[in-house]
Amino acid sequence: DMEVAIKVVVVGNGAVGKSSMIQRYCKGVFTKDYKKTIGVDFLERQIVVNDEEVRLMLWDTAGQEEFDAITKAYYRGAQACVLVFSTTDRDSFQAIDSWREKVEAEVGDIPTVLVQNKIDLLEETLIKNEEAEALAKRLKLRFYRSSVKEDLNVNEVFKYLAEKYLHR
Ligand code: GDP
Ligand code: MG
Repeated sequence: DMEVAIKVVVVGNGAVGKSSMIQRYCKGVFTKDYKKTIGVDFLERQIVVNDEEVRLMLWDTAGQEEFDAITKAYYRGAQACVLVFSTTDRDSFQAIDSWREKVEAEVGDIPTVLVQNKIDLLEETLIKNEEAEALAKRLKLRFYRSSVKEDLNVNEVFKYLAEKYLHR
């Protein structure tokens, strides 16, 4: 049988933890000062979902997100999307709508999940639970709260996406 490979784009404002999430999921590490390895477009991890082998290719951005300069090559052929905002960054929460629109404009309606990262910093939160849940409801997206630092809910996010992709 054919192996399923899924290109996943991880988008959101700078510093929400996208690169850390990809590193955590594919390499099992968390570093405070992660710097993108020059020349690497994506990291991958293979998982089994419903007895099917799925290869997830997680595409990282080189930090150009602040300049709205993510290239078309980044989005090209994307089959699933993680929209990330941070518990300690209100702008990143408010930017989710425009990230969604951007992805949709580039690749259409693909399986997508909404993630609030850095929930280990919940006592410093700038986003009320009701607000985050209302956003997920309005966008009709499954919503996860994660901590890449504490390795909370990271696997679940990608497992859900793979399942969603297989059942699309
Ligand atoms: P990116 O710009 O979205 O790729 O964000 P990075 O992955 O570079 O992360 C930005 C900063 O947030 C780094 O210092 C990370 O160590 C930190 N970070 C990432 N995830 C978490 C988390 O879950 N909790 C905390 N406390 N810090 C995190
Ligand atoms: Mg990054």
